[in-house]
Amino acid sequence: MAAEPQDDCLFCKIVEGHVPATIVRETETTVAFRDINPQAPTHVLVIPKAHYPNAAALAAAEPTLAADVLREAQAVADEDKLESYRIVFNTGAGAGQTVWHAHAHILGGRGMQWPPG
Ligand code: 5GP
Ligand code: ZN
Repeated sequence: MAAEPQDDCLFCKIVEGHVPATIVRETETTVAFRDINPQAPTHVLVIPKAHYPNAAALAAAEPTLAADVLREAQAVADEDKLESYRIVFNTGAGAGQTVWHAHAHILGGRGMQWPPG
């Protein structure tokens, strides 16, 4: 649960610049970068620089930082001129979470189905 960088965490390595990423925005508390395997014309991941294992842990520990992530989601949408977009927080392996550092998927630029399946 610690907010300190985790040695085995891919997204902590991206925050630290040890793994390259196509960064689209950076603030004091967050980084936004393009997903390596995009599922839509816009597929950006917004992460807090601090390490939390998922969005719920982030919101419980640092609600202001969770709000920073949401604000950045809108900023990403504005930059890509998206009128509509989807924010996804996969939480738990059964929901598709594969990286255990809280991240918002920002998806847009194509039609979306609901329910998502
Ligand atoms: P999750 O499945 O945990 O919700 O989302 C993790 C996302 O990270 C996936 O969409 C995956 O494509 C993306 N991803 C995995 N490894 C890398 C990487 O090295 N660089 C970038 N930019 N995205 C990655
Ligand atoms: Zn991390």
